[in-house]
Amino acid sequence: MNLFFLGLFGLCVGSFLNVILYRMPRNESIVKPRSACPNCKTKLSFIELIPVLSWLVQLGKCRYCNCKVSITYPSIEIITSVLFLLAIVSKPTIPIIDNQLILVISGCILFSILLVLTILDIKFFWLPDSLTFLGIFIGIFINTLPSILSLDLYKLITPLSHIFWSISTYFIIASVAFLLEKILNKPAMGLGDAKLSAMVSSWLGLEGLELVLMLTILTSGLFCTLGLLAGIYKRGSVIPLGSFICLSFGAVWYLGNNFFLDILDRFLWWRYLDII
Ligand SMILES: [Zn+2]
Repeated sequence: MNLFFLGLFGLCVGSFLNVILYRMPRNESIVKPRSACPNCKTKLSFIELIPVLSWLVQLGKCRYCNCKVSITYPSIEIITSVLFLLAIVSKPTIPIIDNQLILVISGCILFSILLVLTILDIKFFWLPDSLTFLGIFIGIFINTLPSILSLDLYKLITPLSHIFWSISTYFIIASVAFLLEKILNKPAMGLGDAKLSAMVSSWLGLEGLELVLMLTILTSGLFCTLGLLAGIYKRGSVIPLGSFICLSFGAVWYLGNNFFLDILDRFLWWRYLDII
C-alpha cells in the first residue's frame, strides 16, 4: 500500500472529521451544505478546502473576513493522517481475519470514530449514540466478514460471541453506573461510557474488553492523581472517562492483546479463577 497516498487520504478524511466535529454538536447535517467560514458564512471554494495547505497559504485566516481559523482544524487533519499510517503497522488481535487490507481499512475506520468520540467527550462530555451504535455495527460486521467471504458458518461463532459480550457489557456497565450513582448520590459514569464499552466488545470480544477497561482504570487513575497533585484538577471534578476508553481501545488495537497481557495479566485477578 502506498504510504504517501494513504497519508493524503488521511488528511482528506481528517477534513471531513472537522466537519463532523463542528456540525454534530450544533445538530446540523454533516453532508449539506458545503463548508463555510463560521464567522462571515462565505462558502469555501474547492481550493480553500484543501487540507492543511489552505490553512498554511491563508496564514490561518479567512481570506474574506480575515478572522482567525483555529489551528485545531489542520491539527485534526494531521492527526488523522498519522493515525491512518499507524493503522498499517497495527497488530490487532482478531485471529479470524487474516486479510491485511481488511485490517488496515478497519483500523482507519476505528481510529476515525475514536478520534471524534475523544474530542467530543473532552469538549462536551458527550459520546453520541449515533457514533457508538455505528461503531458497534461496524465491529460486528468486520468480525462477520470471514464467514461471509468463506461461506463458512462455523466462523460465525466469533461475531456471535462478540454480540453476546457487547450486549452483556452494556447491561453490566450500565448497572455499575446506576449503583455508583445511588451510592455516591451523583452521576459517576454516563450511559455513553457503557455503549462505548459495548463497542469495544463488538470489535475485540471479552479479552480485548478486559484489557481496554484495565488500561482505562490505570490511565484515568494516573491522570486524576497527577492532576490533583499538580492542582489543575479538583476533587469531585468530572473527567471525560470516554476519552480514556477511546485511547485505551486505540492502543490495544495498535499493539495487540499480547503486548498488554504480558504487562497487565497479574492485575486481571479474575483470570486466576480458571486455575481453581
Ligand atoms: Zn470569514
